[in-house]
Amino acid sequence: MRIGFGNDIHKLQDGKPLIIGGVTIPSEFGAVGHSDADVLLHAVTDAILGALALGDIGSHFSDKDERWKDADSFIFLGEAIRLLKEKGFEVENVDSIINLEKPKLRPHIQTMRENLARELEIEIDCVSVKAKTGEGLDSIGLSQAIKAEACILLRKI
Ligand code: MG
Repeated sequence: MRIGFGNDIHKLQDGKPLIIGGVTIPSEFGAVGHSDADVLLHAVTDAILGALALGDIGSHFSDKDERWKDADSFIFLGEAIRLLKEKGFEVENVDSIINLEKPKLRPHIQTMRENLARELEIEIDCVSVKAKTGEGLDSIGLSQAIKAEACILLRKI
């Protein structure tokens, strides 16, 4: 077994798309980033790379690389999954938290879980996505940022 932990934070800005876990969420503001700024997919990708001790998402997909400008973050997750398979692992389960003040994410959580379950090739009951606000405090609470954290367990096949 291998455990991995990943996190990510992006600045929020008016007029940007808000994409979380592959779901485009109706919102006046979204996350700023070199890619599509999907914090949840970035955190899960980082957790997989961490479990494999293969560095972090930035060492595989530099934000200075024009290839990843506005890139679909499923590309990053797909590469991490390719690496875990290459190393002879499969995913046991994943747990994650999204920190965002608004809008409410509850209506979208199930679709995010379905997206992750499909990509990770596991059952949906092995995929947890939780959402928390910042209670009006710090950069999350002031709607200046969105953050995600993920913990993943890999099993040697
Ligand atoms: Mg990121």
